[in-house]
Amino acid sequence: MRLRNKPWAKEKIDQHPQYIVANPELHKGKWLEVFNNNQPIHIEVGTGKGRFVTEMAKANPDINYIGIEKYDSVIVIALDLLIEADLPNLRLLNVNADELDKYFTKNDVDRVYLNFSDPWPKSRHEKRRLTYKDYLKSYEDIMIDKGEIHFKTDNQGLFEYSLKSFSAYGLLLTYLSLDLHKADFEGNIMTEYEQKFSEMGNRIYRCEVKYQN
Ligand code: SAM
Repeated sequence: MRLRNKPWAKEKIDQHPQYIVANPELHKGKWLEVFNNNQPIHIEVGTGKGRFVTEMAKANPDINYIGIEKYDSVIVIALDLLIEADLPNLRLLNVNADELDKYFTKNDVDRVYLNFSDPWPKSRHEKRRLTYKDYLKSYEDIMIDKGEIHFKTDNQGLFEYSLKSFSAYGLLLTYLSLDLHKADFEGNIMTEYEQKFSEMGNRIYRCEVKYQN
């Protein structure tokens, strides 16, 4: 993602703690208090400009969504969408997913979405890929038993790597499409990157995997 520094971003984030949760570590183990309901929680790791989580939250009011994005200059764009939509079932976290265990504990999360994650193609950067085994462990540690990861990307190399990583970790493949926009998958919500890359003619790969325990 090309980043333009926005010196005002931090201040704007601080002004909207009802949308971008301030001190998220205080909610570890009790996120349902934030939403004031008893609904499942789905998180998107690397939410970017936020279109996916916002549209998902509008389409599925019976699910709570949390979008996680590490860059404040990117999450402020998602914040604008959220201010406009004012959805009770959506929050954003301006944190690094390397530290999910600081903010969530076992059973806090029901599903993880990874959309167009940075591919980090060099093998020396493998550990930075959000489908690397250490990340798979960190998602397992905060999810319910048999929690799911839903993943899509246009990057064939990252997709193939991720399928191998999921399989080596023992995750069960429950959905696979090698060309999502030509598949009979209903209710797809396009992310910003998905729109951009599919307009360039790239195929979109998608899979769903499930933890076995
Ligand atoms: N999901 C969006 C989409 O499909 O349009 C954005 C895709 S963009 C290529 C990847 C995003 O993930 C970037 O905004 C990046 O800052 C964020 N990201 C990458 N690693 C992250 C991490 N460890 N924690 C939080 N956000 C991360």
